[in-house]
Amino acid sequence: MIMDPLVDRFGRRIEYLRLSVTDRCDLRCAYCIPEGFKGFEEPAHWLDFDEIERLMHLFAGLGLKRIRLTGGEPLLRRNVTDLCRRLSNLPGIEDISLSTNATQLAGMAADLRQAGVTRLNVSLDSLREEGVERINGRPVLGQILDGLEAGRAAGFAPIKINMVVMQENAGEIESMVDYCMERGFVLRLIELMPMGDTARRMGYVDLQPVIAQLRNRFDLIDRVLPGGGPARYLGSRDGRFNIGFITPISQHFCDTCNRVRLTVDGILHLCLGQEEQVDFRSLMRGGATDPEIIAAIRRAIDLKPERHEFREAPGKLVRFMNMTGG
Ligand code: SAM
Repeated sequence: MIMDPLVDRFGRRIEYLRLSVTDRCDLRCAYCIPEGFKGFEEPAHWLDFDEIERLMHLFAGLGLKRIRLTGGEPLLRRNVTDLCRRLSNLPGIEDISLSTNATQLAGMAADLRQAGVTRLNVSLDSLREEGVERINGRPVLGQILDGLEAGRAAGFAPIKINMVVMQENAGEIESMVDYCMERGFVLRLIELMPMGDTARRMGYVDLQPVIAQLRNRFDLIDRVLPGGGPARYLGSRDGRFNIGFITPISQHFCDTCNRVRLTVDGILHLCLGQEEQVDFRSLMRGGATDPEIIAAIRRAIDLKPERHEFREAPGKLVRFMNMTGG
């Protein structure tokens, strides 16, 4: 029983943490890490597994229930399955999930499942090799599709496919719906967020008209999915297919935001689109005791801003997604 759970100034209970285990990635998605990006974090600053486990244990004592490993590309962090196993054994943690580009998934899916990862989100922006190469910077479609099949064979269900919609791939939404329907994947369409100049150049597409078109074209009805997070869902009438829409720009969902983000170097970000942050690496490496860290977690949650301002101030945020952890 958590006596005094984490609740921010706006009454939101914080139960979900996105844990970036690396800021490196084998892809160069045009909206995420710009080609030639040099600002990666020094390995000496990466939290090691003992530090991560200690901090997550203290968060769990304050009511944290769900951890999603992300990055950069989390499967590039050496021995990441060991970390998953350690985190899934923490008392209070009910769910360990992972966001991946799936290029390394084929060889790791079964181990991840065994290590206690319960859910997988896979990023896939195009089903055409040239589309993947243009948007994601590398010709890796085959590897991703093999990874998805391995994920399914390992028993991850349902696998969610995240497609960031921009001018480049808006014409492919219906073929992505068909692909996901056939394979039993949940599709989630995500609005492009203006994280840095490269993302801003990719051409934002408002998903509200897309929602209406897909509803008619595929005869979809409103659906509520447990643990669906900020996505609004539509589904097929037979219940076999669901599609979510994550619309941070056209309809933000900050009033239900229950999450915080920890970077690979131990900085806790209280909002994806704002600057409020607290450095837990320096605290831990400076010898802080557990009660001191718990007090710092509570102070950090008090800093959580009410909402992002992607729409009102799209040029404001210069941090890239691989740095904060997507
Ligand atoms: N490498 C992993 C992956 O590909 O899922 C995890 C990290 S990635 C940064 C997490 C998610 O953030 C991906 O679905 C990616 O498409 C999304 N993302 C990155 N930059 C974005 C942006 N500017 N707008 C919207 N989504 C973005």
